[in-house]
Amino acid sequence: MGEFDLIDRYFRRPARRAALGVGDDCALLNPTPGMQLAISSDLLLEGRHFLSTVDPHKLGHKALAVNLSDLAACGATPLAFTLALALPQADEAWLEGFSRGLFALADAHDCELIGGDTTRGPLAICITVFGEVPPGQALLRSGARPGDDLYVSGTLGDARLALEVFRGTRSVPQAVFNAARERMERPTPRIALGLALRGVATAAADISDGLAGDLGHILKASGTGACIDTSIAIQLIAARGHPALGTSSFEAEFWLECVLAGGDDYELVFTAPPDARRVVEAASAQAQTPVTRIGRIEAAPGLRLVDGAGQAVTRRFVSFDHFST
Ligand code: ADP
Ligand code: MG
Repeated sequence: MGEFDLIDRYFRRPARRAALGVGDDCALLNPTPGMQLAISSDLLLEGRHFLSTVDPHKLGHKALAVNLSDLAACGATPLAFTLALALPQADEAWLEGFSRGLFALADAHDCELIGGDTTRGPLAICITVFGEVPPGQALLRSGARPGDDLYVSGTLGDARLALEVFRGTRSVPQAVFNAARERMERPTPRIALGLALRGVATAAADISDGLAGDLGHILKASGTGACIDTSIAIQLIAARGHPALGTSSFEAEFWLECVLAGGDDYELVFTAPPDARRVVEAASAQAQTPVTRIGRIEAAPGLRLVDGAGQAVTRRFVSFDHFST
């Protein structure tokens, strides 16, 4: 199978909304007049972002999900994406699974594949997504203000638990592992929540490298600090409450490490003024996405952790950084 057969067979579909899709030198998009384009890229490398053993269907899902998550964090509506792919060989079973996983998520969000590039090489996947947002309404990292409430969506830390089990540092019952692994391999981009939070959240980011680190980006961009109640944060890891776990659970420090520094969660962290609590609840209900208030934004820079009684928790949690280790 040649390069162009491969593209035609697995990645070319009739253009729907795009004026021109796969097959020419450029794709052509007609954004809604007056809207701003929101654009984001993510590069996934085998061995660094995913294991060579991962199911290609799940990988297709995840490659697009991590990009859609960035649109969600900006409150943008998905439009289209490009796919640049380096493949060691044209493995038909792999391509079939990967493209099916990719298109299932793309179709669920009405996000169209409009082009890309395909080359032989070590397995690498780079997707660029295009979304749109009314001018001035994108959710930014820079809008948090002292006194704002601090929220996260969904659950956090389960992907990290699965990673630790893969690494062999922890063991858990099979049912707990399966659930955690599902969160690692099939993250849910919070598109509906991002849209519902437009005009409500003062700042937002998606959590790809761990809550502490991604919240840190909001704090830095906003020139503020924050305080997190660890007694609430520790509840965010779904695995901790799994019935199969019984009493053989780990120490609080480990759970907190997963929640605060885990990574690969693809939930949203966002801020909103306290008088918007009812509106945040309504946005959460509208998007059918649970949110939890875990702390507040403060004027003093830095991230502080407190226990349920308000006492300082001194341990530091360091987020993932590709160049710091
Ligand atoms: P060019 O050489 O002009 O960059 P290519 O010959 O690489 O274009 O690709 C031919 C067409 O196939 C282009 O429209 C390109 O966008 C599309 N394409 C290539 N690889 C992919 C892919 N993995 N997924 C979707 N479209 C692709
Ligand atoms: Mg090319």
